[in-house]
Amino acid sequence: MVTLKQAKLDIEAIRAEFPILDQKVNGKQLVYLDNAATNQKPQRVIDALTHHYQKDNANIHRGIHTLAERSTEAFEATRAAIQTFINANEVEEIIFTKGTSESINLVASSWGRKFLNEGDEVLISTLEHHSNIVPWQMICEEKGAVLKVMPINQKGEIILEEIDGLLSEKTKMVAFNHASNSLGSINPVKAIIDKAHAVGAKVLIDGAQATSHLNIDVQGLNADFYAFSAHKMYGPTGLGVLYGKRTELEKMPPYQGGGEMIKDVSFEKTTYNDIPYKFEAGTPGIANVIAFKSAIEFINEFGKENIAAHEAELLAYATAELKKIKGIRLIGEAKEKVGVLSFIVDGVHHYDLGLWMDAKGVAVRTGHHCTQPLMDFYGIEGSVRASFAVYNTIEEIDIFVNALKSTIEKFKN
Ligand code: PMP
Repeated sequence: MVTLKQAKLDIEAIRAEFPILDQKVNGKQLVYLDNAATNQKPQRVIDALTHHYQKDNANIHRGIHTLAERSTEAFEATRAAIQTFINANEVEEIIFTKGTSESINLVASSWGRKFLNEGDEVLISTLEHHSNIVPWQMICEEKGAVLKVMPINQKGEIILEEIDGLLSEKTKMVAFNHASNSLGSINPVKAIIDKAHAVGAKVLIDGAQATSHLNIDVQGLNADFYAFSAHKMYGPTGLGVLYGKRTELEKMPPYQGGGEMIKDVSFEKTTYNDIPYKFEAGTPGIANVIAFKSAIEFINEFGKENIAAHEAELLAYATAELKKIKGIRLIGEAKEKVGVLSFIVDGVHHYDLGLWMDAKGVAVRTGHHCTQPLMDFYGIEGSVRASFAVYNTIEEIDIFVNALKSTIEKFKN
């Protein structure tokens, strides 16, 4: 990993691109540390949205007029940018969805209906977000398949040695996250994919928490499916991506019917469109897709290594500061982590901590973070989570730590 010295990121210049950061909340300068839930949008993304509606708005693909052509061209340019960003082999392997959740539901529903049978097994991990648990539970229930779970250790790392015992020729799908939203743990993705492939299983990676921090190479990983959300990558909400290998996507039936997903329709028979359109029924979030390209350009401009190095410094500093505070228990201390810091405080409910921090202008998330089974593993109901993005600073960590200390003091007295 590069050091911050090599990175030379001008964080103040980066911050200037985010108008939302320059405001007071509850009379205090906003310190936004809820980036794992959604990160903020640079002006260039906001401008791209506005430009589309001011100049180019038209429905895509079917139109022959100039605005329709402009919209279609810009829309498809984002697909190509994503192909490069995750190193997919072909642009047709990039499908637009509403978000990571819809991407996973698409695979569970379409692939699962076709390929899962009674007694088959789907393997997920203890670290999963509900979006990578519930769709699999639903399809397993429907097909009589069995859901199994990879265990983790107390640090929040998947126990690799235990996976072999869970994999067999019955395992048809292995689905797990690249990085955990609650703990930040970065999983040994390639090693698990290789183990899964060795028994003939397919693999879906939930990349929601990875794509804005880590280099993603879907071909290098040999992932069959890779799901992520634009809104966690400085892009618009309500937009996600499903990458799938052509060979898999072509075998799968459509997920939804209507709009662009057909070649020909009669009352007797419908023939489906080719990928990716087969999976893109109805008018998509055109402006969101177009503006997402600006978000990708933003990340590319600063470079993942540099962004990761900056966030790693913030994480190391914040972790060390928190460890100095009496009564704090860190939740998740994996060796490899993205910039997520989860903790609880003896005698103070996480919800109260979050509220009091908000009163000081500090935005953190509290609760189970849509990972209730993971919270159960730690024997807690929820935690406070601070999560970092490229625009956060050491000064902001100091404000956060001081706000936390004074909140704890308040509850002690
Ligand atoms: N998986 C993980 C690991 C996540 O962090 C999230 C969002 N918190 C999701 C899935 C769901 O993403 P979305 O809400 O954008 O569908």
